[in-house]
Amino acid sequence: MVKRTRVKDLLATTEFNREVTVMGWVRTFRNSQFIAINDGSSINNIQAVVDFNNTDEALLKRITTGASVSVTGNLVESVGKGQRVEIKVTRLEILGDSDAEKFPLQPKKHSLEFLREIAHLRFRTNTFNAVFKVRHALAFAVHQFFNDKGFVYMHTPIITASDAEGAGEMFRVSTFDPDNIPRNEDGTINYKEDFFGKATNLTVSGQLEGELAAMAFGDVYTFGPTFRAENSNTTRHLAEFWMIEPEMAFYDLDGNMDLAEELLKYVISYALEHCADELEFLKNRLLEEEKSKPQTDRSDLDLLAKLNFCLENNFERLTYTEAIQILKNSKPNQKKQFKYLIDNWGADLQSEHERYLVEKHFKKPVILTNYPADIKAFYMRQNDPDENGRRTVRAMDILFPGIGEIVGGSQREERLEKLEQRMNEMDIPTHEMSWYLDTRRFGSAPHAGFGLGFERLVLFVTGMTNIRDVIPFPRTPKNAEF
Ligand code: ATP
Ligand code: MN
Repeated sequence: MVKRTRVKDLLATTEFNREVTVMGWVRTFRNSQFIAINDGSSINNIQAVVDFNNTDEALLKRITTGASVSVTGNLVESVGKGQRVEIKVTRLEILGDSDAEKFPLQPKKHSLEFLREIAHLRFRTNTFNAVFKVRHALAFAVHQFFNDKGFVYMHTPIITASDAEGAGEMFRVSTFDPDNIPRNEDGTINYKEDFFGKATNLTVSGQLEGELAAMAFGDVYTFGPTFRAENSNTTRHLAEFWMIEPEMAFYDLDGNMDLAEELLKYVISYALEHCADELEFLKNRLLEEEKSKPQTDRSDLDLLAKLNFCLENNFERLTYTEAIQILKNSKPNQKKQFKYLIDNWGADLQSEHERYLVEKHFKKPVILTNYPADIKAFYMRQNDPDENGRRTVRAMDILFPGIGEIVGGSQREERLEKLEQRMNEMDIPTHEMSWYLDTRRFGSAPHAGFGLGFERLVLFVTGMTNIRDVIPFPRTPKNAEF
């Protein structure tokens, strides 16, 4: 194939009057003359000018929205408005036709809902070009951040047999014929006959295996897909999502919070630096979207201002107990506007409460710590009971404006007896978790870690409002299209 030049490079060049070849997809074709070509490398198109008097009529007809083309011609400075460079076409080839009548993407605005139904084609829109470029940059930045700090990237298993994490409902993994499942005499399923000889699931978190590795490497992280059969159809939950989970030996809760805040700021500033065009576009997209909303539902800050605000301010850190006090005395609680009213210490915080704290009370990211033991997982480090006998654990959740919980983490319980006692209280079989408890039996060490939901991060940075629009092919209840 002829060597092609990327549109992004041509739009930035100052070397004119040379022959270039561009390959891409037609966005629009105006006046039988001006083709706007996008090759995905930039959110911006390049203009190719066809000499229509000397071009075959039949060929001109095939330059339709969506068609794939190769154009060769002289690169010149553009006299027209809106672009700096253009190509004076000398050779044009249609690589793939696109029937304009049938191609679902027209050169006009489409709703995000409609685009979700054609997710296989939505990559070809400016919005999704920008979103997935930012997603890429954020993923790259995550690895950069940890690599620079000497963390080891660990691939934890996707298929697991442990069901103790309790992070969410799990998807079963089995090779049984659903019409003919082997059973024991008492009618229960005979998992010994199944592929792995035991019941297995898709992982809900790589944390437990991450802890094993941290007890040898010191600092590790995983970044992989996780699966939760959450039957909640929200704009914040997917059944398949990606999670970043660092786990660090010799860290306490403060160190854990510091690392999480540093990571978030690093990746946000990386996106600001490397995705300036995309974020500028997404900022304007959001402003446009918010025009149709009532004033009270609009953001105070535009997307770029919000991201910069996040970089420039310390996250507010407070305990669960302090947060409950604020929520109890809050207007929406007093006026009974919360769906779940806060009256007791020990209540689990709903997203309405988290968003009140972040968006109304503090107006900045918040880290809540020291939650009641009863609403958190078994592996979190237990604090001594307070003077009222309340039991808390060294958990920390980071709450972001517009998102709610973006990070969940804790210092881990490193004391064997305490951990076993808690597992017994919560009916978690210690014999099945013997491999996990071995870390506490042999050279246990204080350690901590957290999980950052990657799509929630992408939501925040792109200013998109539905999590289905920041992962290429979302999996949600009753939907596994493509
Ligand atoms: P939530 O209360 O919002 O369901 P969680 O308490 O179940 O979250 P964790 O188990 O602590 O979440 O998971 C760590 C992080 O993974 C969360 O802070 C969030 O960013 C992300 N996360 C959790 N569940 C989902 C999901 N179903 N889809 C996308 N991201 C998720
Ligand atoms: Mn959940």
